Amino acid sequence: MRFYKSETSFFILIVFLGGVGIMLYRVQTALGMLTPLSMGPDIAMLVDYVAQANGFALLFLAAALLSGIFLIYPLIRIQAQDHGKLQQMTQILSARSETLAQAALTDGLTGMQNRRYFDEALKEYLVQFGRIDKPVGLMILDLDHFKSVNDTYGHDMGDAVLREVAHCLKDYTRYHDVVARLGGEEFAIVVSNMEKEYLAKLAERIRKAVSEIALTVDDVPIKVTTSIGVAEWDRQESWQDFYRRADQLLYQAKNMGRNRVCT
Ligand code: GH3
Ligand code: MG
Ligand code: MG
Repeated sequence: MRFYKSETSFFILIVFLGGVGIMLYRVQTALGMLTPLSMGPDIAMLVDYVAQANGFALLFLAAALLSGIFLIYPLIRIQAQDHGKLQQMTQILSARSETLAQAALTDGLTGMQNRRYFDEALKEYLVQFGRIDKPVGLMILDLDHFKSVNDTYGHDMGDAVLREVAHCLKDYTRYHDVVARLGGEEFAIVVSNMEKEYLAKLAERIRKAVSEIALTVDDVPIKVTTSIGVAEWDRQESWQDFYRRADQLLYQAKNMGRNRVCT
């Protein structure tokens, strides 16, 4: 069996304290013998014996104190320091994994939620809102002729447009709506607890706001518009079917000439 340093130190302390106890016990018994002996020739021996036991008791006490100070206290200190370091490391690690988890769900370009987050959120929203009988709406947006924005003004300007659109979508939605970039120039918004009529109005306001984004290159404004498919959950369909329906409405909007909302 292998003992840790702290355990060994503890046993040493116990042995010394035991020594103190035994010596004090011997002093006690010797003093108990004093009365019957009264003043005899052995008295000098007895006094000598008591003094010796007392001396040993003091010696053991000193050894116990020293082992406490030089063996046990340093171990306690090291342990406390290690504990502090460990706690610090755990904090750093958990902060790092939080950042990683956050990064896995965030779109790097716009800082909004990504496709992975969106899929999970849509599933969860349908479960939760299915329970409380409140509507869930879904908008899917795709920027119109975005390839030509890249081709005309360059990819960096295209990125700036995407960031501006993300900003605009955030401005027009509420904190509990899920606003995500699904990829490329495609975005989605899960709008909870909003009646159909208001949902369509909101989509129209968003379409208008995107078309009014004022980005310029050499004082020439960049024109950007979006087509939007809007659907309200029928409370029966799966999240995939719901998504597909909104996507079909988006393509209907594209086919009807773009820069419009289809509900
Ligand atoms: P449509 O109106 O039919 O949607 O036409 P579109 O040009 O928008 O559609 P298409 O799918 O042909 O082109 C999408 C373009 O989006 C092509 C690609 O260069 C651009 N794109 C995708 N992701 C990014 C990105 O992260 N940054 C930039 N700048 N462009 C991107
Ligand atoms: Mg697209
Ligand atoms: Mg497009």
